[in-house]
Amino acid sequence: MKYVLVIGDGMADTALTALDGQTPLEALTLPAFDRVAGCACGRVRTVPEGLAPGSDTAILSIFGNDPRTCYTGRSVLEAAGMGIVLPDGSISFRVNLCAVEDINGGLTIHSHNGGNIHGEEALELMNNLIANPAFAKKMKDAGLAIQVTDTFRHIGVMESAARDLAAVCLTEPHNVLERDIAPYLPYMVVDTGDAAALKLCADIRELMLMSYEVLKNHPVNHRRAAQGKLPANMIWPWGAATAMQLPSFEQKYHKRGTVVSAVPLVWGIAALGGLKTPRVPGANGDLDTNYEGKVERALKALLSEGDDFAAVHVEAPDEMAHAGNLERKLEAIRRIDARVVAPLLERLTQSGEDFRLLLLSDHPTLLTTRTHDGTPVPYAIYDSRVVARALAEGMPAPSRKFCEKAFAGEPLQNNGTKLMNMLFEQP
Ligand SMILES: [Zn+2]
Repeated sequence: MKYVLVIGDGMADTALTALDGQTPLEALTLPAFDRVAGCACGRVRTVPEGLAPGSDTAILSIFGNDPRTCYTGRSVLEAAGMGIVLPDGSISFRVNLCAVEDINGGLTIHSHNGGNIHGEEALELMNNLIANPAFAKKMKDAGLAIQVTDTFRHIGVMESAARDLAAVCLTEPHNVLERDIAPYLPYMVVDTGDAAALKLCADIRELMLMSYEVLKNHPVNHRRAAQGKLPANMIWPWGAATAMQLPSFEQKYHKRGTVVSAVPLVWGIAALGGLKTPRVPGANGDLDTNYEGKVERALKALLSEGDDFAAVHVEAPDEMAHAGNLERKLEAIRRIDARVVAPLLERLTQSGEDFRLLLLSDHPTLLTTRTHDGTPVPYAIYDSRVVARALAEGMPAPSRKFCEKAFAGEPLQNNGTKLMNMLFEQP
């Protein structure tokens, strides 16, 4: 028996006026999704009540880890996805490149991603910043190392004895766009007498302000300004986390597996559980990702490499919903149906192996608010044996509309960590 998981990130949504009161999943014709739903379906709460909805908490649950007990923060998962194992006693951060502007002596943030800086420009700015003697000296004094990428997202690791991270407020930059940053620079929420936390807070604040002095007149930013683009002229650390351990997926479920994704967060959740995370060329987390390459990689794991389990995660619907673009969210879901689920069903059926395939959205991402939501999501589980039985009896292959409303009367699984047990038919 082979097992497949397909996550369409942020596919679920609410009824939209632009779709005559339908959700995106409801409005679309999705034949492969409907074949999956024909076998078994329901609703599942992937984000435990009281936790912030996001791919971190939701996908931890889907892979069988209760975020209420294991979660220490998002950045440590992204770090793990980039191969950085956080030593005990260290703290990780997401480090964004942001765009700020000096307006009347105060700095206003225009973009949490430096005008979506990427490629050579991102590398050049970050590498020049950490090579700047004054900045490098301050980094060393703060115990900070930064792993640079060719995007606006970098990972910071700081040696620090600070243990009360909740006492230090590191604001999420995407939540304060177009505001003066002064009140959102790192500050102590409460003074707990933790001298290391106090130092960490002061150090990050100083590093942020220093980074602006180094980057504001950088030739890359002058060039971007001339091209009408936003500069990437300040670093913004956030999402602090301490080391996180996850139980071995293989020991827990007795299945060996591979997870195919384009985003460090998902690689990290998989890697911490001991699952393989091969990279697929052209898989970029965007609408034009390499769908075929991802499917081929998952099939190779299952059919050539002897894995029992393979997951394909597609980021695009979530990104399109964050961008508030209905047409592109619809297109992302259409592509997951036609270019991920349909070929997986086809090829696994041809292989002659029995298989089960779990399809779901990790969490809803709402086009109305352009942000994540924690309400339960629809899920469905295809089972090749159920389909074979129907066909043997002269019946059509089972099919049923896959969407939020069609499943509204189905039972709610309130514990998302049970999904893998359901897929593997384990108690
Ligand atoms: Zn997500």
